[in-house]
Amino acid sequence: MDTKILKDRYKREPVEVICPICKQTKIIYLPEEEIPQCPVCKVKMVIREVLVEGKY
Ligand SMILES: [Zn+2]
Repeated sequence: MDTKILKDRYKREPVEVICPICKQTKIIYLPEEEIPQCPVCKVKMVIREVLVEGKY
């Protein structure tokens, strides 16, 4: 049970980011990862969708 509490506290949130120029997408985990740059276009990618399971 303690393990479950710890998991919730440090829960990672997967989000899909997309390059606004070439539409390349990537899955990252917030808050431990920063929004990446597109390796091709060298622009900051934007959050496309928050992939939360069981969201009410
Ligand atoms: Zn791009």
